[in-house]
Amino acid sequence: MRVLLIHPEISRTKYNFAGVIDNEPLDLEYIAALLVKEGIEYDIWDGQIETIKAQAKIDEYKPDVVYCCGRTRQENFMLEYLSYAKKTLSAVTIAGGVHTQLCRDRFYKDDVDFVLSSYDYFALIKVIKGETPEGLNGICYKEDGKWVGNTVSPVDIGLLPHPDRTYFNKNSSKYRYLELVPCAHVRTAYSCPYGCAFCARRTLNAGKYRARDIKDVVDEIEEIPYENIYFIDDDFLFDPERIREFIRLVRERNIQKKYVCYGRADFISKNEELMAELKSIGLYYVLTGLESTKDNYLESYNKRIDMNGNIKAIEITNRLGIHMMGMFITDLDFEAKDFREIYKFAKSHSLKHVAISIYTPEIDSEVYKGMKDRIITDNPADYDYLHVVAKPGKLSLKSYYFHYHVLMVRLFLRAYKDGIYSFLDYGYYVKSILKNMFKFGG
Ligand code: SF4
Repeated sequence: MRVLLIHPEISRTKYNFAGVIDNEPLDLEYIAALLVKEGIEYDIWDGQIETIKAQAKIDEYKPDVVYCCGRTRQENFMLEYLSYAKKTLSAVTIAGGVHTQLCRDRFYKDDVDFVLSSYDYFALIKVIKGETPEGLNGICYKEDGKWVGNTVSPVDIGLLPHPDRTYFNKNSSKYRYLELVPCAHVRTAYSCPYGCAFCARRTLNAGKYRARDIKDVVDEIEEIPYENIYFIDDDFLFDPERIREFIRLVRERNIQKKYVCYGRADFISKNEELMAELKSIGLYYVLTGLESTKDNYLESYNKRIDMNGNIKAIEITNRLGIHMMGMFITDLDFEAKDFREIYKFAKSHSLKHVAISIYTPEIDSEVYKGMKDRIITDNPADYDYLHVVAKPGKLSLKSYYFHYHVLMVRLFLRAYKDGIYSFLDYGYYVKSILKNMFKFGG
Protein backbone atom coordinates (compact mmCIF):
# COMPACT_ATOMS: atom_id res chain seq x y z
CA MET A 1 0.00 0.00 0.00
CA ARG A 2 1.17 3.51 -0.81
CA VAL A 3 0.03 6.62 0.98
CA LEU A 4 0.58 10.12 -0.34
CA LEU A 5 0.52 12.86 2.31
CA ILE A 6 -0.25 16.29 0.87
CA HIS A 7 0.11 19.76 2.33
CA PRO A 8 -1.17 22.15 -0.36
CA GLU A 9 0.39 25.43 -1.32
CA ILE A 10 -0.68 28.40 0.82
CA SER A 11 -1.98 30.41 -2.13
CA ARG A 12 -1.61 30.66 -5.90
CA THR A 13 -1.17 34.40 -5.93
CA LYS A 14 2.10 36.09 -5.08
CA TYR A 15 0.33 37.76 -2.13
CA ASN A 16 1.64 35.50 0.59
CA PHE A 17 4.77 34.89 2.62
CA ALA A 18 6.31 32.13 0.51
CA GLY A 19 10.08 32.41 0.70
CA VAL A 20 9.80 34.35 3.98
CA ILE A 21 8.21 31.80 6.29
CA ASP A 22 8.02 28.22 4.98
CA ASN A 23 6.93 25.73 7.59
CA GLU A 24 8.09 22.14 7.99
CA PRO A 25 5.06 19.85 7.34
CA LEU A 26 5.33 18.46 10.86
CA ASP A 27 1.87 16.92 11.12
CA LEU A 28 2.51 14.90 7.97
CA GLU A 29 5.81 13.77 9.44
CA TYR A 30 4.05 12.51 12.58
CA ILE A 31 1.70 10.50 10.37
CA ALA A 32 4.72 9.33 8.36
CA ALA A 33 6.38 8.03 11.53
CA LEU A 34 3.27 5.98 12.36
CA LEU A 35 3.07 4.65 8.77
CA VAL A 36 6.71 3.55 8.92
CA LYS A 37 5.97 1.63 12.15
CA GLU A 38 3.20 -0.19 10.28
CA GLY A 39 5.50 -0.95 7.35
CA ILE A 40 3.38 1.19 5.02
CA GLU A 41 5.11 3.07 2.21
CA TYR A 42 4.51 6.82 2.03
CA ASP A 43 5.61 9.98 0.30
CA ILE A 44 5.00 13.66 1.02
CA TRP A 45 4.12 16.48 -1.36
CA ASP A 46 4.39 19.94 0.21
CA GLY A 47 3.03 22.70 -2.02
CA GLN A 48 5.16 25.33 -0.27
CA ILE A 49 8.35 23.97 -1.80
CA GLU A 50 7.53 21.43 -4.55
CA THR A 51 8.31 22.28 -8.15
CA ILE A 52 5.97 19.71 -9.73
CA LYS A 53 2.20 19.97 -9.42
CA ALA A 54 0.28 17.84 -6.94
CA GLN A 55 -1.62 16.21 -9.81
CA ALA A 56 1.68 15.20 -11.44
CA LYS A 57 2.82 13.71 -8.12
CA ILE A 58 -0.43 11.75 -7.82
CA ASP A 59 -0.04 10.47 -11.43
CA GLU A 60 3.56 9.48 -10.82
CA TYR A 61 3.27 7.94 -7.33
CA LYS A 62 -0.09 6.23 -7.86
CA PRO A 63 -1.08 6.16 -4.19
CA ASP A 64 -3.80 3.88 -2.82
CA VAL A 65 -4.59 6.46 -0.16
CA VAL A 66 -4.29 10.26 -0.30
CA TYR A 67 -4.39 12.30 2.92
CA CYS A 68 -4.53 16.05 2.53
CA CYS A 69 -4.33 18.60 5.36
CA GLY A 70 -4.47 22.36 5.55
CA ARG A 71 -5.91 25.50 7.01
CA THR A 72 -8.99 27.43 5.97
CA ARG A 73 -7.20 29.27 3.19
CA GLN A 74 -6.16 25.92 1.65
CA GLU A 75 -9.63 24.35 1.61
CA ASN A 76 -10.14 24.76 -2.15
CA PHE A 77 -6.77 23.16 -2.91
CA MET A 78 -7.40 20.28 -0.50
CA LEU A 79 -10.70 19.47 -2.17
CA GLU A 80 -9.19 19.84 -5.63
CA TYR A 81 -6.38 17.36 -4.92
CA LEU A 82 -8.60 14.83 -3.16
CA SER A 83 -11.08 15.02 -6.00
CA TYR A 84 -8.31 14.46 -8.57
CA ALA A 85 -7.02 11.41 -6.69
CA LYS A 86 -10.52 9.98 -6.46
CA LYS A 87 -11.41 10.60 -10.10
CA THR A 88 -8.15 9.43 -11.66
CA LEU A 89 -7.12 6.57 -9.35
CA SER A 90 -10.20 5.83 -7.22
CA ALA A 91 -7.82 6.30 -4.28
CA VAL A 92 -9.14 6.37 -0.73
CA THR A 93 -9.29 10.08 0.09
CA ILE A 94 -8.96 11.61 3.56
CA ALA A 95 -9.04 15.26 4.65
CA GLY A 96 -7.46 16.40 7.91
CA GLY A 97 -5.62 19.22 9.66
CA VAL A 98 -6.56 22.30 11.63
CA HIS A 99 -9.37 23.33 9.28
CA THR A 100 -11.17 19.98 9.51
CA GLN A 101 -10.99 20.23 13.32
CA LEU A 102 -12.77 23.57 13.12
CA CYS A 103 -15.40 22.78 10.48
CA ARG A 104 -15.36 19.19 9.38
CA ASP A 105 -18.65 19.19 7.53
CA ARG A 106 -17.24 21.46 4.82
CA PHE A 107 -15.41 18.34 3.64
CA TYR A 108 -18.50 16.14 3.48
CA LYS A 109 -18.18 15.75 -0.30
CA ASP A 110 -18.63 12.93 -2.80
CA ASP A 111 -14.91 12.70 -3.59
CA VAL A 112 -13.88 12.59 0.07
CA ASP A 113 -14.12 9.23 1.85
CA PHE A 114 -13.05 10.22 5.38
CA VAL A 115 -12.43 13.32 7.42
CA LEU A 116 -10.13 13.37 10.45
CA SER A 117 -11.41 16.04 12.83
CA SER A 118 -9.10 15.36 15.79
CA TYR A 119 -5.34 15.09 16.37
CA ASP A 120 -5.76 11.32 16.66
CA TYR A 121 -3.29 10.07 14.08
CA PHE A 122 -3.61 6.57 15.55
CA ALA A 123 -7.27 6.61 14.45
CA LEU A 124 -6.16 7.83 11.02
CA ILE A 125 -3.74 4.91 10.64
CA LYS A 126 -6.55 2.48 11.48
CA VAL A 127 -8.66 4.04 8.71
CA ILE A 128 -5.75 3.81 6.27
CA LYS A 129 -5.37 0.12 7.16
CA GLY A 130 -9.03 -0.40 6.31
CA GLU A 131 -10.35 -0.91 9.84
CA THR A 132 -13.91 0.07 10.61
CA PRO A 133 -14.19 3.83 11.28
CA GLU A 134 -17.01 3.31 13.76
CA GLY A 135 -16.15 4.91 17.09
CA LEU A 136 -12.70 6.14 16.01
CA ASN A 137 -11.83 9.49 17.58
CA GLY A 138 -12.96 12.35 15.32
CA ILE A 139 -13.28 10.23 12.19
CA CYS A 140 -16.14 11.16 9.84
CA TYR A 141 -17.29 8.65 7.26
CA LYS A 142 -20.19 7.74 5.02
CA GLU A 143 -22.79 5.18 6.04
CA ASP A 144 -25.56 4.35 3.59
CA GLY A 145 -24.66 7.50 1.66
CA LYS A 146 -24.93 9.74 4.75
CA TRP A 147 -22.04 11.31 6.67
CA VAL A 148 -21.49 10.23 10.26
CA GLY A 149 -19.19 12.34 12.46
CA ASN A 150 -17.63 10.56 15.44
CA THR A 151 -17.13 12.37 18.75
CA VAL A 152 -13.83 14.22 19.13
CA SER A 153 -11.76 13.55 22.25
CA PRO A 154 -8.50 15.20 23.31
CA VAL A 155 -5.30 13.42 22.37
CA ASP A 156 -2.29 12.92 24.63
CA ILE A 157 0.50 14.34 22.47
CA GLY A 158 3.01 12.41 24.58
CA LEU A 159 1.90 9.15 22.92
CA LEU A 160 3.19 10.21 19.51
CA PRO A 161 6.55 8.99 18.24
CA HIS A 162 9.09 11.56 17.10
CA PRO A 163 8.30 12.74 13.57
CA ASP A 164 9.91 11.04 10.56
CA ARG A 165 11.95 13.92 9.10
CA THR A 166 13.11 12.13 5.93
CA TYR A 167 11.30 14.63 3.68
CA PHE A 168 12.51 17.64 5.66
CA ASN A 169 16.08 16.37 5.59
CA LYS A 170 15.96 16.15 1.79
CA ASN A 171 14.58 19.67 1.47
CA SER A 172 15.89 21.41 4.56
CA SER A 173 17.32 24.43 2.74
CA LYS A 174 13.79 25.36 1.63
CA TYR A 175 12.32 25.64 5.12
CA ARG A 176 12.82 28.89 6.94
CA TYR A 177 11.60 31.31 9.55
CA LEU A 178 12.74 34.66 8.17
CA GLU A 179 16.56 34.57 8.10
CA LEU A 180 16.74 31.30 10.06
CA VAL A 181 17.37 28.57 7.46
CA PRO A 182 16.90 25.65 7.73
CA CYS A 183 14.39 25.91 10.53
CA ALA A 184 12.99 22.69 11.99
CA HIS A 185 9.64 22.62 13.79
CA VAL A 186 9.04 21.03 17.16
CA ARG A 187 5.64 20.71 18.80
CA THR A 188 5.54 20.34 22.56
CA ALA A 189 1.81 20.82 23.20
CA TYR A 190 -1.61 20.74 21.61
CA SER A 191 -4.09 23.63 21.93
CA CYS A 192 -3.79 26.64 24.24
CA PRO A 193 -4.83 27.11 27.86
CA TYR A 194 -5.99 30.71 27.30
CA GLY A 195 -9.29 31.95 25.93
CA CYS A 196 -8.73 34.97 23.69
CA ALA A 197 -12.10 35.77 22.16
CA PHE A 198 -10.93 36.11 18.55
CA CYS A 199 -8.84 32.93 18.51
CA ALA A 200 -10.01 29.52 17.32
CA ARG A 201 -6.80 27.70 18.27
CA ARG A 202 -7.93 27.25 21.88
CA THR A 203 -10.72 24.99 20.55
CA LEU A 204 -8.29 22.54 18.91
CA ASN A 205 -7.72 19.14 20.52
CA ALA A 206 -11.32 19.25 21.78
CA GLY A 207 -10.39 22.44 23.65
CA LYS A 208 -7.89 20.66 25.92
CA TYR A 209 -4.31 21.81 26.39
CA ARG A 210 -1.97 18.81 26.50
CA ALA A 211 1.81 19.15 26.84
CA ARG A 212 4.65 16.68 26.30
CA ASP A 213 7.19 15.65 28.88
CA ILE A 214 9.89 18.30 28.46
CA LYS A 215 12.68 15.72 28.65
CA ASP A 216 11.26 13.99 25.58
CA VAL A 217 11.16 17.38 23.84
CA VAL A 218 14.85 17.93 24.59
CA ASP A 219 15.61 14.37 23.38
CA GLU A 220 13.95 15.26 20.08
CA ILE A 221 15.82 18.54 19.75
CA GLU A 222 19.10 16.76 20.40
CA GLU A 223 18.35 14.43 17.45
CA ILE A 224 17.76 17.33 15.03
CA PRO A 225 20.93 18.21 13.13
CA TYR A 226 19.93 21.83 12.45
CA GLU A 227 20.68 24.98 14.36
CA ASN A 228 17.25 26.59 14.27
CA ILE A 229 14.27 25.21 16.18
CA TYR A 230 10.79 26.71 15.97
CA PHE A 231 8.42 25.64 18.76
CA ILE A 232 5.09 25.79 17.00
CA ASP A 233 2.98 25.44 20.16
CA ASP A 234 0.31 28.10 20.33
CA ASP A 235 1.97 29.20 23.54
CA PHE A 236 5.31 27.71 24.56
CA LEU A 237 5.96 30.09 27.46
CA PHE A 238 3.21 28.82 29.72
CA ASP A 239 4.51 26.89 32.71
CA PRO A 240 7.60 28.54 34.32
CA GLU A 241 8.65 25.26 35.99
CA ARG A 242 8.58 23.42 32.67
CA ILE A 243 10.60 26.19 31.01
CA ARG A 244 13.12 26.10 33.87
CA GLU A 245 13.55 22.35 33.37
CA PHE A 246 13.92 22.89 29.62
CA ILE A 247 16.74 25.37 30.22
CA ARG A 248 18.41 23.02 32.71
CA LEU A 249 18.35 20.08 30.29
CA VAL A 250 19.60 22.14 27.34
CA ARG A 251 22.51 23.36 29.47
CA GLU A 252 23.25 19.93 30.90
CA ARG A 253 23.50 18.48 27.38
CA ASN A 254 25.29 21.52 26.01
CA ILE A 255 22.82 21.89 23.12
CA GLN A 256 23.67 24.91 20.99
CA LYS A 257 20.66 26.11 18.98
CA LYS A 258 18.61 29.18 18.17
CA TYR A 259 14.96 29.05 19.20
CA VAL A 260 11.76 30.63 17.97
CA CYS A 261 8.59 30.34 20.05
CA TYR A 262 5.22 31.89 20.76
CA GLY A 263 4.98 33.52 24.15
CA ARG A 264 2.46 35.83 25.76
CA ALA A 265 3.37 39.30 26.96
CA ASP A 266 2.10 38.58 30.49
CA PHE A 267 4.54 35.66 30.84
CA ILE A 268 7.43 37.80 29.59
CA SER A 269 6.56 40.75 31.82
CA LYS A 270 6.33 38.55 34.92
CA ASN A 271 9.40 36.39 34.23
CA GLU A 272 12.29 38.65 33.27
CA GLU A 273 14.89 36.44 34.93
CA LEU A 274 13.62 33.36 33.09
CA MET A 275 13.62 35.26 29.81
CA ALA A 276 17.27 36.16 30.42
CA GLU A 277 18.04 32.47 30.96
CA LEU A 278 16.20 31.60 27.74
CA LYS A 279 18.21 34.20 25.88
CA SER A 280 21.41 32.71 27.24
CA ILE A 281 20.55 29.27 25.79
CA GLY A 282 19.59 30.68 22.39
CA LEU A 283 16.07 32.19 22.37
CA TYR A 284 16.18 34.31 19.22
CA TYR A 285 12.60 35.23 18.27
CA VAL A 286 9.60 35.36 20.57
CA LEU A 287 6.31 35.74 18.72
CA THR A 288 3.96 37.73 20.92
CA GLY A 289 0.33 38.60 20.35
CA LEU A 290 0.31 42.23 21.44
CA GLU A 291 -2.88 42.56 19.38
CA SER A 292 -3.67 46.21 20.07
CA THR A 293 -2.45 49.59 21.23
CA LYS A 294 -5.55 50.16 23.35
CA ASP A 295 -6.79 48.63 26.58
CA ASN A 296 -10.41 48.55 25.44
CA TYR A 297 -9.57 46.22 22.57
CA LEU A 298 -7.38 44.02 24.80
CA GLU A 299 -10.30 43.75 27.17
CA SER A 300 -12.86 42.97 24.51
CA TYR A 301 -10.50 40.28 23.12
CA ASN A 302 -10.28 38.75 26.63
CA LYS A 303 -6.51 38.97 26.32
CA ARG A 304 -6.00 39.05 30.10
CA ILE A 305 -3.29 41.69 29.88
CA ASP A 306 -3.26 45.47 29.61
CA MET A 307 -1.08 47.91 27.69
CA ASN A 308 1.31 48.32 30.62
CA GLY A 309 2.00 44.59 30.51
CA ASN A 310 2.55 44.71 26.75
CA ILE A 311 4.95 47.63 27.02
CA LYS A 312 6.87 45.98 29.86
CA ALA A 313 7.25 42.82 27.76
CA ILE A 314 8.65 44.81 24.82
CA GLU A 315 11.08 46.61 27.13
CA ILE A 316 12.30 43.33 28.63
CA THR A 317 12.91 41.66 25.26
CA ASN A 318 14.64 44.79 23.94
CA ARG A 319 16.85 44.95 27.03
CA LEU A 320 17.77 41.27 26.74
CA GLY A 321 18.35 41.38 22.98
CA ILE A 322 15.58 38.89 22.16
CA HIS A 323 13.80 39.76 18.92
CA MET A 324 10.13 40.15 19.69
CA MET A 325 7.83 39.70 16.72
CA GLY A 326 4.95 41.87 17.89
CA MET A 327 1.72 40.66 16.34
CA PHE A 328 -1.18 43.11 15.98
CA ILE A 329 -4.76 42.81 14.82
CA THR A 330 -6.35 45.54 12.76
CA ASP A 331 -9.86 45.46 14.18
CA LEU A 332 -12.83 45.74 11.86
CA ASP A 333 -13.98 48.78 13.82
CA PHE A 334 -10.74 50.66 13.17
CA GLU A 335 -10.73 54.27 12.07
CA ALA A 336 -7.86 55.72 10.01
CA LYS A 337 -6.06 56.93 13.15
CA ASP A 338 -6.00 53.43 14.65
CA PHE A 339 -3.85 52.15 11.77
CA ARG A 340 -1.46 55.07 12.28
CA GLU A 341 -1.44 54.36 16.02
CA ILE A 342 0.09 50.90 15.47
CA TYR A 343 2.96 52.41 13.53
CA LYS A 344 3.50 55.11 16.15
CA PHE A 345 3.39 52.58 18.98
CA ALA A 346 5.94 50.28 17.33
CA LYS A 347 8.25 53.19 16.64
CA SER A 348 8.01 54.79 20.06
CA HIS A 349 8.64 51.49 21.86
CA SER A 350 11.47 50.42 19.53
CA LEU A 351 9.58 47.35 18.41
CA LYS A 352 11.42 46.44 15.24
CA HIS A 353 9.57 43.30 14.13
CA VAL A 354 5.86 43.79 13.57
CA ALA A 355 3.29 41.47 12.00
CA ILE A 356 -0.22 42.60 11.14
CA SER A 357 -3.35 40.44 10.79
CA ILE A 358 -6.71 41.71 9.68
CA TYR A 359 -9.38 40.60 12.17
CA THR A 360 -10.63 37.30 10.75
CA PRO A 361 -13.25 35.08 12.34
CA GLU A 362 -12.61 31.43 11.44
CA ILE A 363 -15.45 30.06 9.30
CA ASP A 364 -18.25 28.54 11.40
CA SER A 365 -16.63 29.58 14.71
CA GLU A 366 -18.77 31.19 17.41
CA VAL A 367 -17.33 34.60 16.49
CA TYR A 368 -18.18 34.01 12.83
CA LYS A 369 -21.73 33.00 13.67
CA GLY A 370 -22.08 36.11 15.84
CA MET A 371 -21.15 38.39 12.95
CA LYS A 372 -22.79 36.42 10.12
CA ASP A 373 -24.63 39.48 8.81
CA ARG A 374 -21.30 41.31 8.32
CA ILE A 375 -19.51 38.52 6.41
CA ILE A 376 -18.73 39.58 2.85
CA THR A 377 -16.94 36.53 1.46
CA ASP A 378 -17.40 32.82 1.86
CA ASN A 379 -14.35 31.97 -0.21
CA PRO A 380 -12.05 30.13 2.21
CA ALA A 381 -8.99 31.43 0.31
CA ASP A 382 -9.81 34.90 1.67
CA TYR A 383 -9.49 33.70 5.28
CA ASP A 384 -5.72 34.24 5.27
CA TYR A 385 -5.63 37.23 7.65
CA LEU A 386 -4.57 39.42 4.72
CA HIS A 387 -8.09 39.99 3.41
CA VAL A 388 -11.10 41.73 4.91
CA VAL A 389 -13.79 39.05 5.23
CA ALA A 390 -16.41 41.06 7.14
CA LYS A 391 -17.78 44.54 6.60
CA PRO A 392 -15.73 47.15 8.49
CA GLY A 393 -17.75 49.07 11.06
CA LYS A 394 -16.47 52.63 10.60
CA LEU A 395 -14.67 52.76 7.24
CA SER A 396 -15.70 51.73 3.77
CA LEU A 397 -14.03 48.53 2.56
CA LYS A 398 -11.91 50.54 0.12
CA SER A 399 -10.81 52.96 2.78
CA TYR A 400 -10.06 50.16 5.27
CA TYR A 401 -7.78 48.43 2.75
CA PHE A 402 -6.15 51.74 1.90
CA HIS A 403 -5.14 52.46 5.49
CA TYR A 404 -4.10 48.84 6.04
CA HIS A 405 -1.81 48.91 3.00
CA VAL A 406 -0.35 52.28 3.98
CA LEU A 407 0.49 50.80 7.39
CA MET A 408 2.10 47.78 5.74
CA VAL A 409 4.25 49.93 3.44
CA ARG A 410 5.32 52.16 6.33
CA LEU A 411 6.30 49.12 8.41
CA PHE A 412 8.23 47.63 5.51
CA LEU A 413 10.11 50.86 4.87
CA ARG A 414 10.94 51.18 8.56
CA ALA A 415 12.18 47.57 8.63
CA TYR A 416 14.33 48.34 5.59
CA LYS A 417 15.78 51.41 7.30
CA ASP A 418 16.49 49.36 10.43
CA GLY A 419 18.24 46.74 8.32
CA ILE A 420 16.08 43.84 9.46
CA TYR A 421 14.90 41.11 7.07
CA SER A 422 18.00 41.79 4.98
CA PHE A 423 17.30 38.58 3.01
CA LEU A 424 14.05 40.12 1.64
CA ASP A 425 13.61 41.71 -1.73
CA TYR A 426 12.03 44.88 -0.26
CA GLY A 427 11.29 46.41 -3.66
CA TYR A 428 9.27 43.35 -4.61
CA TYR A 429 7.22 43.41 -1.40
CA VAL A 430 6.55 47.14 -1.42
CA LYS A 431 5.49 46.93 -5.10
CA SER A 432 3.25 43.98 -4.33
CA ILE A 433 1.60 45.80 -1.39
CA LEU A 434 1.07 48.91 -3.53
CA LYS A 435 -0.41 46.78 -6.32
CA ASN A 436 -2.85 45.29 -3.82
CA MET A 437 -3.66 48.74 -2.54
CA PHE A 438 -5.01 49.58 -5.99
CA LYS A 439 -6.61 46.18 -6.43
CA PHE A 440 -8.47 46.16 -3.10
CA GLY A 441 -8.87 49.82 -2.36
CA GLY A 442 -7.08 53.12 -2.26
S1 SF4 B 1 -4.34 34.22 20.90
FE1 SF4 B 1 -2.66 32.96 21.67
S2 SF4 B 1 -2.90 32.98 23.90
FE2 SF4 B 1 -4.85 33.65 23.05
S3 SF4 B 1 -6.10 31.76 22.89
FE3 SF4 B 1 -5.08 32.08 20.90
S4 SF4 B 1 -3.20 30.88 20.98
FE4 SF4 B 1 -3.95 31.15 23.09
